[in-house]
Amino acid sequence: MNKALADLIRISRDTGSDPTLVQGGGGNTSVKTADGKYMYIKASGTALKDMSSKAGWRRLNIDTARSVVKDKAIAAMPPRKRELKVVDRLLEACDDNIKIEARPSVEAHLHAWLDTAVIHLHPSSAGAFVNAKTGRARLDKLFKNEKTPPLWVPYTDPGYMLAKRIARLVQRYRKDHRAKPQILFLEKHGLFVTAPTADQALRIVRRVIKLCNSKLKHPKKAKPKAVAPRKIEEAKRCIAAAYARALRQKPQTWHYPNAAIDQFMALKNAKKMLTGSLTPDELVYAAGPAVWIEKLDPEPIARKLKAQVKAGKKPSAAFLVKEVGLIAVGTEKMAPTVRDIVLYSIFIRTNAAKMGSIMTLNKRQEDFINNWESEAFRKKLAAGK
Ligand SMILES: [Zn+2]
Repeated sequence: MNKALADLIRISRDTGSDPTLVQGGGGNTSVKTADGKYMYIKASGTALKDMSSKAGWRRLNIDTARSVVKDKAIAAMPPRKRELKVVDRLLEACDDNIKIEARPSVEAHLHAWLDTAVIHLHPSSAGAFVNAKTGRARLDKLFKNEKTPPLWVPYTDPGYMLAKRIARLVQRYRKDHRAKPQILFLEKHGLFVTAPTADQALRIVRRVIKLCNSKLKHPKKAKPKAVAPRKIEEAKRCIAAAYARALRQKPQTWHYPNAAIDQFMALKNAKKMLTGSLTPDELVYAAGPAVWIEKLDPEPIARKLKAQVKAGKKPSAAFLVKEVGLIAVGTEKMAPTVRDIVLYSIFIRTNAAKMGSIMTLNKRQEDFINNWESEAFRKKLAAGK
């Protein structure tokens, strides 16, 4: 295996195995080859931790990937058409012998503008700041001794617009600081780290997480509260009944005992904190924040699920049930991701609330994600997958 690919697998598995750094198929990584011609990047739909020398990545021609951002015809297209075109162009930029239809990460053209190694994560520690009203000012203070200060990226729709904005901000940064940025904080989204080598990028990631964590409140280590099996069954049955009524679905339901969830649910303002979606990933993997349930009545839950689907959204997948804890809806493969997203979300919400207030996606931003995601999905279907 060549060095760039070996580095990519290493940084992906190293960061991807920690659910406080990235959840489900979120995040992405890339490493450029020493000759500057190619870039190995995570494939879309693969989890970082599942990447191997054989699968989960694509090799792209860097110049072709960069040209996507510069293309004026793409810039002039309406959003839906534009995002589909970008997916096509990134597939065209693939220069490897991979026969299966694995798309490169939708943010590949963005990576093309950054340094040799790129690690993009959704850490709950950085999330607490990028989702807090005073987060940016606090990060500036926390990282004031950096040789190259972090670059703040205001919220931008993922995909083409984000790549374009980052390309522009990086250009300006290089003028102002005579250096490339190494740490990028993305408002209501996450963290990008980029460095000349994979090892340096990993070291920066660890340093950023440690520094952010040093200012945050962490749940106490404890055993999860014991819940009677009968109560768990009642809660599962109620949510399954709501799904059956609203969507004619028979979902799989799971209970996850967890001390951090117990502690969050004991907070006075817990219910109030569960409003709005924090990030694109919370929306994609858990259909927004967990639903707070005090009384086991399927009817109001069914009404809520119906209204969500009618509005073009996905039905909620996480429920925080009083005296029971988290009930997640999903397949055996997906449900643990819902749990990881809930843990990430309650950590961010608790801490961001302490820093002024929690910032969430607005309606337009949410609509874009819901649309964008379904388009990408349809595209995948059309490709015969
Ligand atoms: Zn992301």
